Parts: sequence; structure tokens; C-alpha cells
Amino acid sequence: MTRSLSHDVVIVGGGAAGIATAASMLKRRPSLDIAIVEPAEYHYYQPGWTMVGAGVFEAPVTQRPMASVMPKQARWIRQAAATFQPEQNRLTLADGSMLDYKLLIVAPGIRLA
Ligand SMILES: Cc1cc2nc3c(=O)[nH]c(=O)nc-3n(C[C@H](O)[C@H](O)[C@H](O)COP(=O)(O)OP(=O)(O)OC[C@H]3O[C@@H](n4cnc5c(N)ncnc54)[C@H](O)[C@@H]3O)c2cc1C
Repeated sequence: MTRSLSHDVVIVGGGAAGIATAASMLKRRPSLDIAIVEPAEYHYYQPGWTMVGAGVFEAPVTQRPMASVMPKQARWIRQAAATFQPEQNRLTLADGSMLDYKLLIVAPGIRLA
């Protein structure tokens, strides 16, 4: 049987928006059960890329291990969200497992094409 875990808040995307939102919510209510769904091993400080282009920073300066920017009280789920089932307050992850939530925040950024 496919497992389904439940959290107060599920945030899809551990970029600037997802991490900042989680940190802000936890600051106000430390007991919140927040899960962040994020497959990437590294977080990128994108505004720094302007400085890389200008020759001020080296590119690695803008890269941090994802684990170092995740709020400690949040649960990091190292997978991509695959599909959403909002009628059931549920989403399905890339491995087929499911996550239930009371509140969903979707912040997967944009894909540059
Ligand atoms: C060159 C450059 C310069 C910029 N300069 C500035 C500036 O000076 N000031 C400013 O305010 N802003 C600036 N920005 C914009 C700012 O960096 C972005 O608005 C911000 O990083 C967006 O954050 P985000 O969390 O929405 O997306 P991102 O930081 O891109 O994060 C999205 C995350 O979602 C994850 N994700 C994607 N798909 C899935 C999925 N299916 N399931 C789970 N996770 C998923 C990705 O792995 C990623 O970690 C700049 C951007 C660039 C590119």
C-alpha cells in the first residue's frame, strides 16, 4: 500500500520563497509541523548571478548546500512534487508516495527556457 504522511503545512520548493515562508511561519509559531518538498541538493542565491556576470563574485559563492538553508524545525522531503490532488488536500511525490496537508504553499520557481 502507498503511504500517505500528513503535515500542517506543505511547501513545494525550497528556493528563496519556500525557505523564507517556512522560516517566517516557524518564527511566529514554532510548533507548526511544516514539510518542504525539494529535490535539489543545492540552493542558489540567484541575485548573486548578476555579480557573477559582472565578474565581482565567482559562481560557487552563490551555491549553498540545501541542508544548510533549511529551517531546522521543518522536515525536508528530498523529492519533487509530481501531481496535485487539491480536493483531497493531497499531493503525490515523484516516487508515488503521497503527502496530506492542511495548508499548501506552491513555490517551485520558474524554469528558464
Ligand atoms: C540573474 C538574477 C538576478 C536577480 N536579482 C534579483 C534582485 O536583485 N533582487 C530580487 O529581489 N530578486 C532578484 N532575482 C529574482 C530572485 O532571485 C527570484 O525571484 C527568487 O530566487 C525566486 O525564488 P523562488 O523560491 O520563487 O524560486 P527558486 O529560488 O528558483 O526556487 C524554486 C525551487 O523549487 C524547486 N522545485 C522546482 N520544481 C519542483 C517540484 N516539482 N517539486 C519540488 N520542488 C521543486 C527547485 O529545485 C528550486 O529549489 C534575480 C534573479 C536572477 C536569475
